[in-house]
Amino acid sequence: DNKNKKILITGGAGFIGSHVVRLFVNKYPSYQIINLDALTYAGNLENLKDIESAANYTFVKGDITGESFINQLFQQYKFDGVIHLAAESHVDRSIEDPLAFVKTNVIGTMNLLNAAKKLWLHTPHPNGGGWEGARFYHVSTDEVYGSLGEDGLFTETTSYDPNSPYSASKASSDHFVRAYGETYGLPYVISNCSNNYGPNHFPEKLIPLFINNIIQKKPLPVYGDGNYTRDWLYVIDHARAIDLAFHEGGNQETYNIGGFNEWKNIDLVKLLCKLMDEKLGRSEGESEALITYVKDRPGHDLRYAIDASKINKELGWEPSVTFEEGLAKTIDWYLNNSDWLAQVTSGEYQRYYDKQYGC
Ligand code: NAD
Repeated sequence: DNKNKKILITGGAGFIGSHVVRLFVNKYPSYQIINLDALTYAGNLENLKDIESAANYTFVKGDITGESFINQLFQQYKFDGVIHLAAESHVDRSIEDPLAFVKTNVIGTMNLLNAAKKLWLHTPHPNGGGWEGARFYHVSTDEVYGSLGEDGLFTETTSYDPNSPYSASKASSDHFVRAYGETYGLPYVISNCSNNYGPNHFPEKLIPLFINNIIQKKPLPVYGDGNYTRDWLYVIDHARAIDLAFHEGGNQETYNIGGFNEWKNIDLVKLLCKLMDEKLGRSEGESEALITYVKDRPGHDLRYAIDASKINKELGWEPSVTFEEGLAKTIDWYLNNSDWLAQVTSGEYQRYYDKQYGC
């Protein structure tokens, strides 16, 4: 029955996945939540310390690129739903090593789709009856739509036009999910979300990278002229949207998720500097002096902005915090979790950082 669902969440040890796992484990005590994660550099079980011993939670370490492993897992647990977040997620890394992105984001997604198809469309439900309510939820990005000019917003019907190896791999996996719906009748939901920020964000991404560098008084590397525009959403609001669309979204529907919250990178960096100077008791302008313009990222998209009116009108979702509130919570989290930050920025991270920015 609906109450005792077994839900597979992939990538649950990562940034967004950890917030989705926490929300589901706490909100749905009768569900069994299985978190499958390979624990790459981006996965960290510290992100889930508070719920790791919950009765309805199981962690499985494993790689979605392993076809027979994934099939076995689906046969063992007989999942009623999948929320798929496991991915290689960093654009800069995709420029260095595109094939790694094809392996996890495309082939990994294919393995999950095939296993779900085999289970839901060809196997009787263990409780009798069919698999009504089964659902494959693919968590995707607004980057699949390519770049916007000065105006306009991405809607659910905007054509795909990916520019980076990362966004091309996510676009490809979105297409496969949709194709499995059309071809085999696989029940799915896709959501395309704008840039997330918040606790547990790996400090290779803009906001946590800059928070960390401001704490350490290190240079703040801004790409190009700093005029790139991104639309920012607090990660917990993304997790709330996923919960809603997973349970109440229409079958084979796509939802765009975003906070109507566009910022030019340079303005965002200046705001962060100002808030951090206040929090750290530094003099005004001290952190801004750390801004350093660095060589642009190739194929850099000028502007992303999401029209989130469909999920708002149809499912009643809206962000729960303003950007100012979310940023303040995020800065506080990083200042209060210096051990987490020290742990993830040691070793391999340092090598990556030096290679990427050389500063
Ligand atoms: P992340 O890099 O923080 O986490 C990814 C997780 O997937 C990690 O825990 C990692 O260990 C795991 N993983 C990677 N390869 C794996 C594999 N082969 N098998 C099993 N696990 C593997 O990423 P994130 O920022 O939390 O993003 C999660 C999802 O949301 C991704 O699909 C991403 O494309 C999408 N998304 C992210 C954003 C954003 O702003 N971060 C915005 C929209 C959509």
